[in-house]
Amino acid sequence: MSILAAKGLKKYYRSQGGYFLRGRQFVRAVDGVDIELKKGMTLGLVGESGCGKSTLARLLLRLEEPTAGTLEIDGTDFLALRGGELRRARRKIQMIFQDPYSSLNPRLTAGSTIAEGIKIHKLARGAGVERRVVELLDKVGLPRAAYSRYPHEFSGGQRQRIGIARALAVEPDIIVADEPVSALDVSVQAQVINLLADLQSDLGLTYLFVAHDLGIVEHVSDRISVMYLGRIVESGPAVELFSLPLHPYTEGLLASIPSAKPGDRVRVAISGDVPSPVDIPAGCAFHTRCPKAFDHCSTETPQLREVSPGRYTACWLHVD
Ligand code: SF4
Repeated sequence: MSILAAKGLKKYYRSQGGYFLRGRQFVRAVDGVDIELKKGMTLGLVGESGCGKSTLARLLLRLEEPTAGTLEIDGTDFLALRGGELRRARRKIQMIFQDPYSSLNPRLTAGSTIAEGIKIHKLARGAGVERRVVELLDKVGLPRAAYSRYPHEFSGGQRQRIGIARALAVEPDIIVADEPVSALDVSVQAQVINLLADLQSDLGLTYLFVAHDLGIVEHVSDRISVMYLGRIVESGPAVELFSLPLHPYTEGLLASIPSAKPGDRVRVAISGDVPSPVDIPAGCAFHTRCPKAFDHCSTETPQLREVSPGRYTACWLHVD
């Protein structure tokens, strides 16, 4: 069953000096994206920085309003909600941020930070609030003593655990984790990923896991969607996408994972930088960096289409 379904989501920003850029005066950060999350699954959303994945994550929580598209959460039209209705519905979908330090209020103790949502949504009262906070601290692997400590007294990994407890405090169904481990030491990354996996099986959570590195999402995702310049260019079951990527951009991202196993096919890493979203290349947006580009690629845009059951790609190489 689908717990979140977004169709044709777009977010365009007016660019600085756009008045003079006739015909391309918008930054197309997200440009017609469909996302479906089934209950209890993890979707990995991957792409280099500047590909629009964090903007897409923010649209799903309505931290930003989309320019176009539809968004249903648990069968409700999420974009039609206002005021108290929106506040209540927001409980269902929570975010874990990339930088656990800047996302925590330095003047609030861990206990007060976690208690905020519990109080706002009246999920407990009086001594029950503190009991619930202690329970959440324990769930994310922090001691009771953490309750009265401030963010600067914790390590990066511990701060991210507080961020996770804060998200869990309002009993959400969906967690959007925006690069949740990329600011952490490599040794701590695995611990936080394992914690998220344990919480998912305990609480039946659904995850959208945003990362710039395919290696991070490999073991946690059921499906993976790859994003390039505001669009999904490939989507499919994680195992299949890793063993046989369809889109040259996915191949390039795989090539940049350092720990290729012996026997893995040698892939060519992507060269160059992501073009500016103000001036997206015509045709296939990836053609300026694609080692397999041919004439047609720079003139017509390939649409995302299903090329085998459950596998989608937007590349002319996979069109008959
Ligand atoms: Fe490369 Fe052409 Fe496929 Fe785009 S459509 S990814 S440029 S081969």
